[in-house]
Amino acid sequence: MPKMPRKQKKEIEFNPQRTGFLRFKRSGDEYLVTNDIGEYAFLTEKVFSKLAAGTLDKKSAEYKDLSRKGFVRDYMDFAGLADRWHEKNHFLFSGPALHIAVLTRRCNHDCVYCHASSKKGGRGLDMTKETALKVLDSVFASPAPSVTIEFQGGEPLLNWPVLEFMVKEAAERLKTTDKKVGLSLVTNLSAMTAERLDFLLKHNVAICTSLDGPADLHNKNRVATGGGSHAEVLKWWKIIKKRTARSKNGPDALLTVTKQSLGRHKDIVDEYVRIGARSIFLRFLNPFGAAKKAWGRIGYTAREYIEFYTKALDYVIDLNLKKKASLVEHTARIFLRKILTDTDPNFMDLRSPCGAGIGQIAYDYDGRVFTCDEGRMLAAEGTDAFCMGDLKKEAYADLAASPTVKCVVTASVTDIQTLCSSCVYKPYCGVCPVFNYSEHNDLYMHHPNFRCEIYTGVMDYLFARLREPKVKKLFESWAGSSAGVAGIHV
Ligand code: SF4
Ligand code: SF4
Repeated sequence: MPKMPRKQKKEIEFNPQRTGFLRFKRSGDEYLVTNDIGEYAFLTEKVFSKLAAGTLDKKSAEYKDLSRKGFVRDYMDFAGLADRWHEKNHFLFSGPALHIAVLTRRCNHDCVYCHASSKKGGRGLDMTKETALKVLDSVFASPAPSVTIEFQGGEPLLNWPVLEFMVKEAAERLKTTDKKVGLSLVTNLSAMTAERLDFLLKHNVAICTSLDGPADLHNKNRVATGGGSHAEVLKWWKIIKKRTARSKNGPDALLTVTKQSLGRHKDIVDEYVRIGARSIFLRFLNPFGAAKKAWGRIGYTAREYIEFYTKALDYVIDLNLKKKASLVEHTARIFLRKILTDTDPNFMDLRSPCGAGIGQIAYDYDGRVFTCDEGRMLAAEGTDAFCMGDLKKEAYADLAASPTVKCVVTASVTDIQTLCSSCVYKPYCGVCPVFNYSEHNDLYMHHPNFRCEIYTGVMDYLFARLREPKVKKLFESWAGSSAGVAGIHV
């Protein structure tokens, strides 16, 4: 059982024979309790004490509510709970749904945080058509009935011949299979042309770019050769938005928060509203690539990030409630879907085990295969710990059986992390072995952990705001919203 909070007035006694398995923490004046199917409840100290002791009045409303949610041991619908657990963990039963093809390591930008350690080199850093065919062999041999191929880089548009080739080849292969394949492109848009856009839209390739805020901030973070990366993004954003107005494949943008973004939450959100974005995805820096090297200049503490995040979300919520904008924030949406619904968004980095090798695979430009995009990012710094194999020697079945996958899957099970096993947020969270390896040179999570501190802060905030009926209603609409982000994994 977790440790009792220090502030409690009288000791709470647990009767494990009468209480369903739960995790808890003090939340304001109440206790927040959660269980493994993701149910939650806020309880007064009195009710919590009775639940713990197994002395709740069976006729009380609390008993009925907590029984229905699986917190009361003498009223367990095991078959129903098992069904719900299965539904919430559906991702464990299908295989890799996300296949990331790194078409080149070249890029024409010098973003201050480039996690992918992109380079300015020549064609030797591009994926060849031969390797691209092997990527498709692996994708089509993998068992998931519905998959996404995400084109990444560097800047993938710089290797246009192979991007075009893969899109056409995938379309050919789809004629002889029931598999569903979605395509998405993560691009800085600088090498977009009208002809390329025609081709991409004709083949239903979803387009995702990066937008870090208004021009001064964006251009400071995302430095383009010749300058003006913000103007270029906005030029194409408008065109793509217009061209996709009647489809679900509208453009999406990702936002990376640097030290320069702190204090600019309002400007950033306003910029997203101004360009008519349907969502905003606030993402913290990861200790990979250029971000790791420049941490002193662009990084921050977890506390600073949480302060930024909560102010930004306060503002987004306010705009929505006052009907001044309709904007979903994606980190919140991922958690809220887990908290408020019986489904899971299958966000690779927030599941147990994480998606490494069993939910996603990243194919580097040279044919080496990694458990995930972040794993190949570490490889770009010279660490091959997350390499599953090489397409020159191995096919999908060999890659899936790689010892690397077994190690990373085991290391990302939250039940066996010391902190997570008793954490009230465990049903909604996940650990990242790549992050841990980069931070602590160990696959397992150490304490303190920047990522854990941030997610704790995010969930503290979300649960606190869930107590407000109007905000809860808005959150329910976010949780049920089908808005996704192409390139959500970069
Ligand atoms: S190792 Fe980390 S980045 Fe890779 S899938 Fe797992 S959580 Fe995501
Ligand atoms: S990573 Fe941190 S917040 Fe998430 S479950 Fe583990 S201890 Fe809790």
